[in-house]
Amino acid sequence: MTCKTCRFIEHGIYFKQLDNGNITIKHCCNMDSIPENEQPHLQEEYNGGDIDWNKIFENKRKDRDMCRRGEYYDVCKNCWELQEQETDEEDYISHVTLAHLTKCNSRCVYCYIGVNKELHNAPQKYRLLPVLEDMRNKNILRFTGSLRYMGGEPTLLEDFETITNMFVDNNIPEIYLPTSGIKLSKSMVKACSKVPNCCIYISIDSGCKETYKQIKGLDAYDLVLNSLKTYANANIMPEHVTSKYIAVLGINDNKKEIDKWIEESKKAGIKMLAFDVEYSYVYDSKNEKYLKHLSQLRDYAEQRITQAGLKMDKYVPYIQKLQNWVSENKEKIQNDTPKGSISLNITDKTLNDIEESLNKIIEENSIWNKPKIKLNINFIQRFTLKKQIEDVKVLCERYGFEVII
Ligand code: SF4
Repeated sequence: MTCKTCRFIEHGIYFKQLDNGNITIKHCCNMDSIPENEQPHLQEEYNGGDIDWNKIFENKRKDRDMCRRGEYYDVCKNCWELQEQETDEEDYISHVTLAHLTKCNSRCVYCYIGVNKELHNAPQKYRLLPVLEDMRNKNILRFTGSLRYMGGEPTLLEDFETITNMFVDNNIPEIYLPTSGIKLSKSMVKACSKVPNCCIYISIDSGCKETYKQIKGLDAYDLVLNSLKTYANANIMPEHVTSKYIAVLGINDNKKEIDKWIEESKKAGIKMLAFDVEYSYVYDSKNEKYLKHLSQLRDYAEQRITQAGLKMDKYVPYIQKLQNWVSENKEKIQNDTPKGSISLNITDKTLNDIEESLNKIIEENSIWNKPKIKLNINFIQRFTLKKQIEDVKVLCERYGFEVII
């Protein structure tokens, strides 16, 4: 029988670490990072010991039956995984997603784990290798679907190498690993040469050591670049290794850094790049004033990636949200031309003071049709304040202001 359903509802299981260290069990992780969506639980909390598989499959059957009736959870309605497909009525698991560790070896400024001391250092409370072995022994686990990791940093999991090898050696056709790339995994290098869909995502977010350190909080740019290179060279499908760039305002939201990122990724043998934005920009209305700048940067990245002969991964959740904003505001964006000008004194002012003035101008004028910013400087100051003028220009670009001198 065919029906519109999803492979994770049919035969998926997702183990996710909660803030208290225990684990919750769901179908999938796909909508986890999107705040308005919440998934149904298969088991609210797992805290070690045996899993009641009868209960899990009873819950899965209820959700499968919903799909047979053409009914879907809100979280699933717009999901790309929901597709017309052949179904069966057997109870087994073939898609495993593991996220039972929030610990991480980098500390990204944009990550909710990086800024939360407890989550960032949380020890692994439960091991899932015995659970997976038990599933295999009971014939509940089949290696015909996928193994996906989420985190924290998955390669820090106590049994990461053993679990990955177990799936690779049993010919799993798909593995998905988002990783910091700081720790190179031997089992993943092996997976690259054996698994047809071995997808690895590394957010390097920069084109040089200095910017990397500012975003990630540690000095590991060369290690990460080396991991990108090693995985891409080992992968039977090099375009399955993605170098990712998450734009963070005030740090890497400029064309120069994007150019360096593309160049370094290309040198490392990377064929696929992904450009994304930090999630608060698209989900927090007070950040709307930055969205035009970010969408222009996205377009710039796409143009430069194509010119470099590389591919751009366009299916990134926050970019899709940004693109929706662009289509909703198409007319406003097209008609967004400066109205009048306001003179701005930059002498003896810090960038913070100037940013505050720009915020005030936006508050008084809305984010659209902003006035041009006329810098209040004399002919000599054009040269003596060169660095400050450049900094102000970058700041104004971020807020969508045109600068005149
Ligand atoms: S349709 Fe999407 S959100 Fe729903 S269970 Fe499947 S993958 Fe998860």
